[in-house]
Amino acid sequence: MKAHDGMYIDGTWRPAAGRDTIEVVNPVDEQVIGRVPAGTAEDVDAAVRAARAAFPGWAATPPAERAARLAALRDALVARKDEIAETVTAELGSPLAFSQAVHAGVPILVAGSYAELAATHDFEEKVGNSTVYQEPVGVVGAITPWNYPLHQIVAKVAPALAAGCTVVLKPAEDTPLTAQLFAEAVADAGIPAGVFNLVTGLGPVAGQALAEHPDVDLVSFTGSTAVGRRIGATAGAAVKRVALELGGKSANVILPSADLAKAVAVGVANVMSNSGQTCSAWTRMLVHTGQYEEAVELAAAAAAKYGDRIGPVVNAKQRDRVRGYIDKGLAEGARLVAGGTESPHAQGYFVSPTVFADVTEGMSIAQEEIFGPVLSIIRYEDEEDALRIANGTVYGLAGAVWAGEEAEAVAFARRLDTGQVDINGGRFNPLAPFGGYKQSGVGRELGSHGLSEYLQTKSLQF
Ligand code: NAD
Repeated sequence: MKAHDGMYIDGTWRPAAGRDTIEVVNPVDEQVIGRVPAGTAEDVDAAVRAARAAFPGWAATPPAERAARLAALRDALVARKDEIAETVTAELGSPLAFSQAVHAGVPILVAGSYAELAATHDFEEKVGNSTVYQEPVGVVGAITPWNYPLHQIVAKVAPALAAGCTVVLKPAEDTPLTAQLFAEAVADAGIPAGVFNLVTGLGPVAGQALAEHPDVDLVSFTGSTAVGRRIGATAGAAVKRVALELGGKSANVILPSADLAKAVAVGVANVMSNSGQTCSAWTRMLVHTGQYEEAVELAAAAAAKYGDRIGPVVNAKQRDRVRGYIDKGLAEGARLVAGGTESPHAQGYFVSPTVFADVTEGMSIAQEEIFGPVLSIIRYEDEEDALRIANGTVYGLAGAVWAGEEAEAVAFARRLDTGQVDINGGRFNPLAPFGGYKQSGVGRELGSHGLSEYLQTKSLQF
């Protein structure tokens, strides 16, 4: 794997201020595949200064020209599609076909959507005797996790650039090589120096320095609720804009009229996808008591079929955390019907696809985000009971509802306290707003709602 030994700041790869490095490890075989610099507050400061200096020029660049640069960025990602997929597979361990389709494919769609939105969005409108201008917020500090390494970057950087903001990115320490590839694509796209800057490094060092930097106007963070809460507090104290995409514990509600076999099959696939490391995963399956045992059997069989077709989780800490939850599920009395804590491989950070039945609402595996291939199946008595259970966590990121008639599913979905619901399976829409109710976060990503996060309004009265 190719690794740059510098930071991408002000349009060039320059040496880091310090000498510390971060090892990048392949989670399949636990081998070191590269090293990147561990940035410090000094690197963050240099990057923020470059972003500040570039801001007036980029903000004044006509939207059509910003759109052209974003289209060039999409093309530069397309040109690197195989390299991106191979790099994500090496850093994150996901199977190559999934990396190609999702880890490389989705960011290309999202970058393309912002090339179009930058060209078509109305940055100026007439309201009565006023003209309302939508202006870029300024310098954005973007802090991203490792679970969808490139998607998380593009979902912040593309709308920020479309809006006319400049960006400093601090990517996750587990997946910095994908971030370096993204910086190469930015350079190839002819995006001016300083508009996008990359500082690799540790969360509590480089991430915190970026979140606390007084010259950053907006912090956009995706990751754990614990860190998100701190970043929100810091931003609040400084009265600066903040966007938080945090955890989830989404419910997959299967109403009695649904096609049970399909709902269970798609539900299990949704949880196991990316080894369960998806914040919007439907980790709680809610099934009517009359169909409960049939659903458990179907889910256990579906999970067992996954065998070793899923990749490992990202690192040893995450593997141990997921196994800890499996132990907790057993200790709290849930019934294990597939998987468990035994690793299917001698090497690598693998966790078996795991399904728990007889999960009750109060259990840790029904309330807390596990971020691994673990499904909890919960029984409900009637629709009101299902609704109460579905809404009974601190989270509200996503969810699913299945019913014989679409209208029945929609009526139920409208009562869920959650930001996104898939109806009878749904289909990914890169233009639909993504983000949480309750403790799942603040703000939205993707589409025009995602663009609005990076804009502020000014009105002139005539
Ligand atoms: P994390 O929140 O620690 O890391 C996310 C990003 O924040 C990384 O870039 C990290 O370097 C940075 N960071 C860490 N500490 C920071 C600090 N003090 N100040 C500023 N930035 C900081 O998440 P993690 O440890 O990688 O994962 C732990 C758990 O978080 C997971 O098990 C999962 O539950 C959750 N998670 C959620 C998502 C999501 O998409 N919502 C993604 C990854 C992880």
